[in-house]
Amino acid sequence: MSDDEDEVVVSCPHCGADTVIDLASIAPTEEPIVDCMVCCRPSRVRHSDGDVELISEE
Ligand SMILES: [Zn+2]
Repeated sequence: MSDDEDEVVVSCPHCGADTVIDLASIAPTEEPIVDCMVCCRPSRVRHSDGDVELISEE
């Protein structure tokens, strides 16, 4: 297995910047809030079966 398997790149819903999400650090039932590295606005991580998207939390 590759070390990169659990890292997914998704677009920030606020500014569109690429954001790397490390699925290995997220429990299957968790939807954590992450802050964009570019615009610093919060997004909720939604994920299922390896599909990941960021939802605006504002
Ligand atoms: Zn952003």
